[in-house]
Amino acid sequence: MAAFKGCSALVTGANRGLGLEMVKQLLEAQCSKVFAACRDPDGPNSEALRELAKKHPVVVTIVQLDVADPSSIKVSAKKVGSLLGKNGLNLLVNNAAMLPQKTMLNATVEDMQNTFNTNVIGPLFIIREYLPYLKTAAKASGKPGMSCDKAAVINISTDSASMTIMPEVIDPFPFFPYSISKAGLNMLTVYTARDFKADEILCISLHPGWVKTDMGGGDMAPIDTRESVEGMLRVICSLTEKQNGGFLDYTGKTMPW
Ligand code: NDP
Repeated sequence: MAAFKGCSALVTGANRGLGLEMVKQLLEAQCSKVFAACRDPDGPNSEALRELAKKHPVVVTIVQLDVADPSSIKVSAKKVGSLLGKNGLNLLVNNAAMLPQKTMLNATVEDMQNTFNTNVIGPLFIIREYLPYLKTAAKASGKPGMSCDKAAVINISTDSASMTIMPEVIDPFPFFPYSISKAGLNMLTVYTARDFKADEILCISLHPGWVKTDMGGGDMAPIDTRESVEGMLRVICSLTEKQNGGFLDYTGKTMPW
């Protein structure tokens, strides 16, 4: 993963599951700065991340960021901005998400609102607040075209947001608020790719596969976080303007919208 060497990256939901594994692998890939964002840095769910940051204090910075809270997003962006150098932020990974197990018939207003706040509105405001640093990175890079070591936004999506795949899956689908919100996230990808194309900031939606995490249902899932993140980072490394605004999975396969 030579492309990440010397790059800066920010990952949301970095305290467990795929986010934590992504921080570990970005470290292995020799990123120079990894901002590991999580909503409760001092809480019990962040112990593994605190241990990792203790071992790599120069590279890993833990940042408090509740993606469902716009003021927390603003404060985090100020902090990260003050720590980033003149090369800006190369990679922003919108990974944090929630999945209430509800169907179309029993999802409450709160289920819908909380899921949208976390899975769509959070990533939107994160992109907006971190945009100046992404633009700085794109300008500072001096490379032609688009690439992850220049400036990229990766929205972690899911196959259950696919309007083509979803109707084939279990009925009644128990991820109703989640799949609708991730379909919204996919449209955010399309807008981001279009609106910041001239700034040479690329954006894709990326499905990590069905992975053994709390959200993935633990051991029921076929792949572990290591395999998923290795695949995702391989895909991220290979991105060019051709994939801008696309929806891919961790093997590089194009996903149907
Ligand atoms: P986990 O349940 O293991 O982790 C979810 C992460 O999101 C946690 O770090 C959690 O933090 C964080 N989070 C949730 N709400 C917020 C919030 N308001 N602010 C900040 N952080 C928050 O899930 P995965 O690692 O499996 O999922 C990562 C991504 O991959 C998600 O976008 C998910 O939709 C996607 N995905 C996962 C699949 C799978 O099979 N695992 C399949 C398809 C997509 P906290 O510890 O504080 O709760």
